[in-house]
Amino acid sequence: MIIEPKIRGFICTTAHPIGCATNVQRQIDHVVVKGLIESSRKRVLVLGCSTGYGLASRIVTTFGSDADTVGVSFERPPAEGKTASAGWYNNRAFEIRAKAAGRVAVTIEGDAFSDAVKAEAIEAIRQSLGQVDLIVYSVASPVRTDPKDGVSYRSAIKPYGAAVTSKTLNTGTGEVSEISVEPATEEEAAATVKVMGGEDWELWIAALAEAGVLADGFQSLNYTYLGSKLTWPIYHKGTLGKAKGDLDRAAAVIRGQHGAHAAHVVALKAVVTQASSAIPVVPLYGTLLIKVEDEMGLGEGPIQQIDRLFRHKLAGELLVDEESRIRVDDWELSETMQAELTKRWAALTTETLAELADLPKYREEFLRLFGFGLGGVDYSADVDPRAVG
Ligand code: NAD
Repeated sequence: MIIEPKIRGFICTTAHPIGCATNVQRQIDHVVVKGLIESSRKRVLVLGCSTGYGLASRIVTTFGSDADTVGVSFERPPAEGKTASAGWYNNRAFEIRAKAAGRVAVTIEGDAFSDAVKAEAIEAIRQSLGQVDLIVYSVASPVRTDPKDGVSYRSAIKPYGAAVTSKTLNTGTGEVSEISVEPATEEEAAATVKVMGGEDWELWIAALAEAGVLADGFQSLNYTYLGSKLTWPIYHKGTLGKAKGDLDRAAAVIRGQHGAHAAHVVALKAVVTQASSAIPVVPLYGTLLIKVEDEMGLGEGPIQQIDRLFRHKLAGELLVDEESRIRVDDWELSETMQAELTKRWAALTTETLAELADLPKYREEFLRLFGFGLGGVDYSADVDPRAVG
């Protein structure tokens, strides 16, 4: 079939197998060209391994420091006449390349929140890695079923306390408008913490510890976004920020149980991913950030951020902020960059968008998440959606 992007709101329901494989290869190339990363952590578990920051983490550890990995993600395989999800193609492309490089790469596709998948991952670790020295938690999901009582929770990305009115962007039409978002109820805020907070991270560490598959001195990382004051009303001060704050709590608990090395929250920059494109206001901020960081020569996507995390922030002496977080959002949050973003934000309208921000590049990056718009791929070719490459 000829595979084209089918965009519905903020998701694309199709993905291109060859394009996704090309995307994975490009990320691998980025790491390999930079050379080896010194690390003793050679056995890695990546939760949320198929796209965005999790995929970048799996690529950087595998191709930067010769690590073997078990990855967990929730992805859709191809079906008759239907493409797989992008992450499914990414997983296959990653496995082929990792194995060709002599590395172990075992992928489990299932619900990371469930006890069954935790047990499956532990078995895979026992068989393929023995133990793990590094766990990267990069799951982003709108729903979670608590394995203890079977109750399902859905996150609500809303302000907390009071309604918020902000500029926003329709990335399809390019229209900048104002939205007002009502505050979350207490129940919605609690559900968001249940889905995106630190509880599942703690459950993973507890399950791995109980199974005896945590190596001495293991490290675990969980990714957060603190972000610009421009997005604080909807993000940092909203329900998602509450959930992310809960990661700091969970990190302290895990450190208390296993030692200072055992848990760090890592603050990363805003990038275009499937998860971030679903958050109101954030895509408008993203189009602005892409333009300003490119002008300053500081543009980074997931692979550049995660390469910098492992190559520079985790190697050598670990520098952390007052909450024990590792900061890779330093460039985005620098005073110079924030001053420029704030100035432009005030002037943003549908008419000024093209001059102040970069919607075309945002759209390109969005389509690339699904394997579209990559150079060297023949999109007019008939492709079997079950093809992996
Ligand atoms: P993403 O949508 O690209 O990736 C999410 C991953 O989670 C995928 O691998 C998906 O398969 C997996 N997943 C979802 N539900 C799952 C489930 N039930 N079981 C197993 N796997 C599941 O998201 P991302 O933007 O890379 O986000 C990863 C983390 O990074 C999140 O914690 C996010 O808050 C954080 N972060 C993102 C940004 C950003 O701008 N995108 C910035 C800073 C921090």
